[in-house]
Amino acid sequence: MNSQIPIYPEPYWRDPNPFPEFPNLKEDLKTDVVVVGAGIAGITTAYLLAKEGKNIILVDAGRVGNGTTGHTTAKITAQHDVIYDELIQHFGTAEAESYYLANMSAKKFIENTIHQLAIDCDFKQEDAYLYTIDDANKAKLETEAKAYQTLGIKGSYMDKLPLELGEKAGLVMPSQARFHPLRYLQKLLDEFVSLGGKVFENTTVVDIEEGHHPTVITRENLKITCQDVVLCTHFPCYDKGAFFARLHADRSYVLAIKPEKVYPGGMYLSIDSPATRSLREVTINGEQHVLVGGQSHKTGKGVCTMQHYEVLEQFARDTFGIKAYLYRWSAQDLITLDKVPYIGRMTEKHRNIYIATGFRKWGMSHSTISALLITDLIMERPNPYEKLYTPSRFQADPSLRNAVVQNLDVAGTLLAGKVGLTFKEPKDLAKDEGAVVMVDGQRCGGYRDSDGDLHIVDSTCTHMGCEVEWNHGDRTWDCPCHGSRFSTDGEVIEGPAERPLGKVALEVEQR
Ligand SMILES: Cc1cc2nc3c(=O)[nH]c(=O)nc-3n(C[C@H](O)[C@H](O)[C@H](O)COP(=O)(O)OP(=O)(O)OC[C@H]3O[C@@H](n4cnc5c(N)ncnc54)[C@H](O)[C@@H]3O)c2cc1C
Repeated sequence: MNSQIPIYPEPYWRDPNPFPEFPNLKEDLKTDVVVVGAGIAGITTAYLLAKEGKNIILVDAGRVGNGTTGHTTAKITAQHDVIYDELIQHFGTAEAESYYLANMSAKKFIENTIHQLAIDCDFKQEDAYLYTIDDANKAKLETEAKAYQTLGIKGSYMDKLPLELGEKAGLVMPSQARFHPLRYLQKLLDEFVSLGGKVFENTTVVDIEEGHHPTVITRENLKITCQDVVLCTHFPCYDKGAFFARLHADRSYVLAIKPEKVYPGGMYLSIDSPATRSLREVTINGEQHVLVGGQSHKTGKGVCTMQHYEVLEQFARDTFGIKAYLYRWSAQDLITLDKVPYIGRMTEKHRNIYIATGFRKWGMSHSTISALLITDLIMERPNPYEKLYTPSRFQADPSLRNAVVQNLDVAGTLLAGKVGLTFKEPKDLAKDEGAVVMVDGQRCGGYRDSDGDLHIVDSTCTHMGCEVEWNHGDRTWDCPCHGSRFSTDGEVIEGPAERPLGKVALEVEQR
């Protein structure tokens, strides 16, 4: 059996491609709703709207399910790395709880749909574990465990995982799940078509004529006129919300291997940066295999791509041994400024154009939340998660809107980070803790070193004005827009920024 890296990348999910072929668009059409993009977000939305009795056209620039959805690892979970403490800090306890509930109800929706439609898609309940192999990161898990308690999330901090990974600590969230995403979507698409839905592949949307009846325009200048447009194109293909400045892409790598040792079950994700590791079991030809993922990095920032596979292969050999090496693939997902996806009306002004993006590699549940939420908006029903996910959340202040219009290239990130969020006080930082803090009403970066001294910097990147974020693994301030990195005193570690972050003096030393 093959235990060498396969020469060509190919995701297990598409071997074979479970979808039938669909034609490309050949004539102008009219419909109720056009859904653009046939990944999990688009297919689920199209399916739900068709069930509501709407006439739907689903178009994709390429083949159905061949975007990020065809290259995922398909864990269905509300355990999205360490996020809940950060959500509490930025959005408050109620919104952090909403985030958890939204994701758990998405998981429930997927599970119910699988039962109702009798979908054979390898769905299995699994416990999800975060873990660290680095003593320095134990505190992060402790803090996250406290956030679980605050929010009433089931789960607990632990010293040992069911799988030996050299862990120093772990955090379990029980009763999560995993599945074969394309087999699930194949059935949803079948249902969609039997409800009268139309699918067009190799049909690229290049523009939208706005209006009471918006018109979607394809590369061939064919037009579909409708009442509502839903953009599920990963990065929005029609951008009136400065999303180019509010999203960045991050890549990861995946191997499918047959292990020498028995895999004990569970879904694992290391929180150690940059050596992220993601593990889950998958059944291939009736036998136990393991998906080994990781080596995340910002798109365009990686080393030679094969090196990422080699590192993961070595990790797999050390952890399980490799009997056979079946598949390898990589993909990227989009991340928003505050790590919460943009789901809903594209802007307050664009009432009949909707977007679903920025899933941060947690798109199985978030795409489902998108489909449920956007369906409710189109059907003019309330949805409890509308406010949390609204793409307009950074535009709350009209003066910011004006600034965005005048200076689109930097305003989105510059302003989004400065307003609307509640941050820590510098005095609340523990030793060796860094966080975004508020100083005299301004968003700043704060770090308290192991001697107890505070280092406060202006958190606005000197490259293009985006807001830097704390990287605890490296004790640095990193720019999410273009990758500049700074020391705790603001010195440039990595460009494109050429100038250091501004230093901020505190009037009274805070201990
Ligand atoms: C390596 C990796 C592992 C992951 N693992 C997990 C996981 O375990 N659990 C989890 O929850 N999430 C995971 N994710 C995230 C998840 O896979 C994605 O968030 C999700 O698949 C995105 O789905 P989507 O429908 O938004 O986008 P996509 O699947 O990318 O679909 C977008 C579609 O839009 C089409 N399109 C684009 N532009 C146009 C245009 N102009 N006109 C027409 N069509 C267009 C594309 O062709 C594509 O088919 C992972 C992501 C990565 C990268």
